[in-house]
Amino acid sequence: MTDVPYEEWRRRAARLSPHTGHHIGGAFVPSRDGATFPAVSPRDGRTVADVAAAGAADVDRAVAAARRAFDEGPWPRLAPADRKAALLRLAGLVERDRETLALLVSLEMGKPVAEADGIELRALIGCLRWYAEAADKLIDESPRTDAASLALVTREPVGVVGAVVPWNFPLTMAAWKVAPALAAGCTVVLKPAEESPLSALHLAALAAEAGLPDGAFNVVNGHGETAGRALGEHPGVDVVAFTGSTEVGRHFLRYAAGSNLKRVWLELGGKSPNIILPDAPDLDAAADTAAWGIFFNAGEMCTAPSRLLVHRSVAGRVLDRIVDRARTLAIGDPLDPATEMGPLVSARQRDRVLSYLEAGEAEGARLRAGGPPPGGDVGYYVRPTVFDQVKPGMRIAREEIFGPVLAVLEFDGVDEAVRLANDTDYGLAAALWTSDLSTAHRVSRALRAGTVWVNCYEEGDMSVPFGGVKRSGNGRDKSLHALDKYLDLKTTWIAL
Ligand code: NAP
Ligand code: MG
Repeated sequence: MTDVPYEEWRRRAARLSPHTGHHIGGAFVPSRDGATFPAVSPRDGRTVADVAAAGAADVDRAVAAARRAFDEGPWPRLAPADRKAALLRLAGLVERDRETLALLVSLEMGKPVAEADGIELRALIGCLRWYAEAADKLIDESPRTDAASLALVTREPVGVVGAVVPWNFPLTMAAWKVAPALAAGCTVVLKPAEESPLSALHLAALAAEAGLPDGAFNVVNGHGETAGRALGEHPGVDVVAFTGSTEVGRHFLRYAAGSNLKRVWLELGGKSPNIILPDAPDLDAAADTAAWGIFFNAGEMCTAPSRLLVHRSVAGRVLDRIVDRARTLAIGDPLDPATEMGPLVSARQRDRVLSYLEAGEAEGARLRAGGPPPGGDVGYYVRPTVFDQVKPGMRIAREEIFGPVLAVLEFDGVDEAVRLANDTDYGLAAALWTSDLSTAHRVSRALRAGTVWVNCYEEGDMSVPFGGVKRSGNGRDKSLHALDKYLDLKTTWIAL
């Protein structure tokens, strides 16, 4: 974890001169038409840099570079051990520039700099190393057939991958696509969120420095409706790997249907239930984890445990503790290493979250903590918010808020808890707190979610897959399974 003091982070922020072009074919370039957009920091609403905004012509140029790098370039043809070495060099350079990248993330999207360094950068480095190490350990198959034939089943890189990601963990979300795609031998065009282009551009510069061939990894910045759409519709893109909202996920399926039927992998939103039973091994730990889970990253988490389902007999005790935590959390400048919760990513996101606070009260839920922070308009802050007396039909119980807002529902029996938990369009994650082994297994099986945590939350490892069911998406990031998204099976049948 970083021991750089607040003063020093501010000095570095003032001196910063980030990359602002697109990174295409190994070099930074401006937009063809010179268009830019401001990268605004949510800590004070100031513009950090003006960044090139891609139009269709720029996306076309990036896809052409990735296409050339795939069809003619060395990257897919390298020995896997050489791809591994290049990705390990990249991980080493990220480690070297770790504090700069943490600063960029913190400035552009408001994550506390200590978490940007300790969580986001650690995840990025770990992910790059993990897929680098996997690159030369993939083994193809030769199924037994008849004596007169030889069958080979080989895994081949699918081609050009368009990766489109959100801003909440800008580097981790990018790495979960880019690292396995590159390890598999694909080439990539990454479109970061318009709120978080700066860290992605620094990563692109490091990829070039690490010796990745020109065009293997490209970054285009800009708006979803133009740059994201152009990538989604481009006939030269073979696969789209998307993380973001369910609504935009639908767009990508339409873009694919209307163009070349490219494969579309979707990691989408969530409204994850966190069930606390009275026999939880430690109720205080369950309450602390529930609070941490919803307030971490200002609630801008696809897996946020935004619906707390708590057994009526322990609800008072659990809730009091969560409300206490909500009231004492250190909110402030993300560049201050003592800050526990920074601002939301943008004024728009803050206003969206505040609109749910109004909706919650209007629909009859009780506000136990939270609301807009006192003290003016500098930075896009919302205080940690807790609603109890929430009913399953309320908007705050059904819609993804993507902010530090907890909806608490009470239940009387386990079956009722499971029913409530599954009463959602989403299926990204769920959690359960119990000391009873068979309850743990029975409820885990009954929960419709890509991940179920028992007596913990948000735990994991690169070795386990991550993704959702229902409207939370398809496919899986992380783990060896993620490589399957970027590899096609080819059958070669040889008559002997
Ligand atoms: P978003 O609005 O869906 O945007 C995600 C990405 O799609 C951004 O790069 C965005 O570009 C682009 N985009 C937006 N509109 C587009 C369009 N019409 N066509 C093509 N691309 C378009 O999501 P967000 O607000 O950045 O992030 C929050 C959402 O991400 C939440 O729903 C959250 O649950 C989800 N999320 C899911 C996971 C997961 O792993 N399941 C992880 C993190 C976040 P611009 O920024 O330029 O608009
Ligand atoms: Mg957006």
